[in-house]
Amino acid sequence: MTITFEVIHKDIGGRVGKVKVGSKTVRTPALLPVVNPHLPLITPREMQEMGVEALITNAYIFNRSTEFRDKALAEGLHAVLDFDGVIMTDSGSFQLSVYGEVEVSNEETLAFQQAIGSEIIVPLDIPTPPGTDRETARQELAVTLERMREGQALFPDANLAGPVQGGIYTDLRREAAAAVQDLGFTFCPIGAVVPLMESYRYKELVQVVLAAKSGLSPGTCVHLFGAGHPAMLALAVAMGCDFFDSAAYALFAREGRYITTHGTLKVDELAELPCACRVCRSHTAEELKRSPERERLLALHNLHVTLAEIARIRQAVQDGTLWELVDERCRSHPRLLAGYRELLRHAEELEPADRVSKRRFFYRGSESCRRTEVLRYHQTIPRISLGGRVLISFDGKEVPGFDTVLGFKPPFGPYPTGLAETFPVGQSEIPDWDEAMVRSGCAGIRSLMAGHPESWFAVRCGPAWAPVVAEEVPGAEVQREQV
Ligand SMILES: [Zn+2]
Repeated sequence: MTITFEVIHKDIGGRVGKVKVGSKTVRTPALLPVVNPHLPLITPREMQEMGVEALITNAYIFNRSTEFRDKALAEGLHAVLDFDGVIMTDSGSFQLSVYGEVEVSNEETLAFQQAIGSEIIVPLDIPTPPGTDRETARQELAVTLERMREGQALFPDANLAGPVQGGIYTDLRREAAAAVQDLGFTFCPIGAVVPLMESYRYKELVQVVLAAKSGLSPGTCVHLFGAGHPAMLALAVAMGCDFFDSAAYALFAREGRYITTHGTLKVDELAELPCACRVCRSHTAEELKRSPERERLLALHNLHVTLAEIARIRQAVQDGTLWELVDERCRSHPRLLAGYRELLRHAEELEPADRVSKRRFFYRGSESCRRTEVLRYHQTIPRISLGGRVLISFDGKEVPGFDTVLGFKPPFGPYPTGLAETFPVGQSEIPDWDEAMVRSGCAGIRSLMAGHPESWFAVRCGPAWAPVVAEEVPGAEVQREQV
């Protein structure tokens, strides 16, 4: 196989990298617009001019149409679509998930995808929807894995994708991912998550994706199949997904829906077009609504917004500010917030992959206390060397009679003055202290104390925080600051 993935920047589980497919390169995270050859609202050439480096189209649609099939076989997909970037094809599994059956075998679709010049081909996997019982999910997974093995045996040189199925069952997802990894796949789509996203089940989406990720090698490029709404892309990237595909830009346009990073609006209800893209800056809302080209203009806007979000996410990963972007995006819908909180509950799994130093840490509320940077700080703080009598001073003032005096910065906790300028203490911006962050900082004190059972600890704080400290750090003496 010739799909390789190079990670250049990391943040949380997210990566900015390069996927090489043969001689072509795709920057990640990448959005692959879904191109329907029957309804090209935006041509692949226009997409390429908008910065699209890869797209996805459905081999099943090509195979079912005599006109397209003969043309694609004779000229190749790149000529038919007029696109010289990377073209990935789906096998017909989507049709399988919608109609229950497809009139094509695994071998036929793989042979056809190769014959038309697709550069990433997908076996006829079985997308197991969320409502499926465990035994059926297990059986379907076994079939999917068998089809991958068959694909490898029949077409050993093909750029074959290894889909991870398993329905809603996290243990099956983990097993499936490990099995796909054992087969040597370097590009793995996580499948059958569209029903979860359509019904806003983001908490379960996070559980399923993280379970799949836990079975995959960090070097594997992960495609979240069917995900492409900009409101959830930052969350998905934070989990370690690298490829996305969007049909939403076109499907939503057909329904008169205007995509934004914080949700989808009905264009008929808009008085203004709050967007910087060229469609929105060259039309008023009224003009857009009445335009004979309305569907195409909406599709262009929708795709612009989605591609801009991908660029914003890449920049955030590079800067180490992805947590803040996730926090911002996930507040646009309560169910996304539930997904974000679920991600935070998995901070311990995410922490090892997260980068060590970041540009900054902006506190954005109590959720920020559960970020990987706070967890890592609490894990490393016991390594600070201490004297016998230790003071943690909330206002930073030194008091005689102690061997070691530490400062205190919530939500991290105690820090030696020598670390005052380093990440995360030095680069964290916090508003007036709140209870959540002080309690989180106290957890840092507890970690420090657990690492130094031989030392004696006192915490010097103002009267407002004394009860919280006494409750959170029962083993330390609380001393009142002198006002
Ligand atoms: Zn726009």
